[in-house]
Parts: sequence; structure tokens; C-alpha cells
Amino acid sequence: MADDKKKPVKKYTPVEKFCTKCGARMASHADRYACGRCSYTEWKAQKGK
Ligand SMILES: [Zn+2]
Repeated sequence: MADDKKKPVKKYTPVEKFCTKCGARMASHADRYACGRCSYTEWKAQKGK
């Protein structure tokens, strides 16, 4: 019964986004990407109107 198989559970793959200003990898938030280096913020596409 003990199924101890270790398998990587990846429910989603985080989208890597890089800052267009300084090239650093941006942190992904719920509704935006934020660059930790230059504070550049890029909003994700809004759904609906
Ligand atoms: Zn940046």
C-alpha cells in the first residue's frame, strides 16, 4: 500500500520573465511581475475588460 515513489509534482510551471530594463529575472506575482533590481513592474494582462 505504501507507494513511496518520489515523483516531482509540478502543478504549474512558473513563467520566467526577465526585466526589459536591466535583464534581471522578475518575480512573478498574482497580477504582475516585479523586478527586484530596478523595481520595474509589469502588469499581467487583465482578463476581461
Ligand atoms: Zn529590472
